[in-house]
Amino acid sequence: MENNQKTIERNAKIESIGLHTGEKSKLFFHPAPADTGIAFMKKNGSRTETIKPVIENLLDTKKFPRRTSIGNERIQIHTVEHLLSALYSMQIDNILIEIEGSECPGQDGSARPFVDVIKKAGIKPLNKKKKIFVVKDPLYLSENNTHIIVLPSNELRVSYILDYPSTTLGAQYASYPITPEIYEKEIAPARTFCMKEEIEPLKKMGLGKGSDYKNTLVIDKNKGPIDNRFRFEDEPVRHKISDLIGDIALFGSHIAGHIIGIKSGHSINTKFIKKMKLLQEKETTDLKEMVFHENGILYSEDICKIIPHRYPFLLVDRIVELDDIKAIGIKTVSINEWFFQGHFPSKPIMPGVLIVEAMAQVGGVLMLHREENRGKLAYFMSIENVKFRKAVRPGCQLILQVELLKTKGKIARLEGKAFVDGSIVAEGTFMSTIIDE
Ligand code: ZN
Repeated sequence: MENNQKTIERNAKIESIGLHTGEKSKLFFHPAPADTGIAFMKKNGSRTETIKPVIENLLDTKKFPRRTSIGNERIQIHTVEHLLSALYSMQIDNILIEIEGSECPGQDGSARPFVDVIKKAGIKPLNKKKKIFVVKDPLYLSENNTHIIVLPSNELRVSYILDYPSTTLGAQYASYPITPEIYEKEIAPARTFCMKEEIEPLKKMGLGKGSDYKNTLVIDKNKGPIDNRFRFEDEPVRHKISDLIGDIALFGSHIAGHIIGIKSGHSINTKFIKKMKLLQEKETTDLKEMVFHENGILYSEDICKIIPHRYPFLLVDRIVELDDIKAIGIKTVSINEWFFQGHFPSKPIMPGVLIVEAMAQVGGVLMLHREENRGKLAYFMSIENVKFRKAVRPGCQLILQVELLKTKGKIARLEGKAFVDGSIVAEGTFMSTIIDE
């Protein structure tokens, strides 16, 4: 059951003022089925909006500094990092969180109260495996003398180096494998902190309205915390690990890798998570293996038995992977293609509409390859969210990947992606229906 997705057993709630807004805020936790993910629900007038705390929904860290905020054009939820850190480390994959207020409760400035409420609600394994992204190659990012790195590892480990020269904090280093037990004991209790000199600028920015000496360690650079005591000698570096995990949670799935932050903050952390996402997209498609996959290849003569397209409009040369929900095709683009004559005479670039057509043909193979659909037609009703990212030139090998997202009656929704040398060149979603000729 260790690798199964988890949710909570019972409803639970937690409330307090927010650290930055100083306003009262409440969270209501509800169990959720497998593959729901973590989702916030927030009232917007009479409607309830749902938003997931994933990197795609991150709000600009420059506009909303010193915290992690998610939102869209209609709603915003601020300071999610301590809550997400706790959910991610306690391995809660699926949960619905109703929020009243615009910021997560600040509690005692640490993630511990969130761990306590999760434990009180009970942790329940679900009947579905969780997804783990296994880091295979190192990746790093540097910005203004701060750095973040991920190295291959068979478990999630997080390390951090903090450096406040000529203060009582000095340099601190800590490193932990992130299991629920270790997180609860060593990291969750660590509270947020700031230097005494930072208070005035923060207040001027309208931040820290809910902070006091109890829920925030305010550090006098010579004497240490004002009106408070450290829970651990190295509490600040442990809190930085807690915050970094909160940002890692925006990745949206578990990671097996060793992540090392060197003086890194939310801004570089979240840029790094975006970079890891790209790496994940590239790896999960595992292109190399598919290109050289010999068994089960459909050659052009086989493809012609499934879809009706012919020269000069057959835009897929072979199918290298095919099952009920996914098809991967290859189109090798040559300088002798008819369309290069006019597009453009001095600069040959494959027209975007033909890349879309090529993806649609692979989608056609996906929908029609089963025996009962032979001789029928897949008719594409709409194409949405088409994006072209790079030019396709003579000599490129297009890898066309199409996945079935959903079927409803005779209508299917498909997602297409076209790659060249492992980078996306075009993508889009298609609505399609099968018709008898
Ligand atoms: Zn924090």
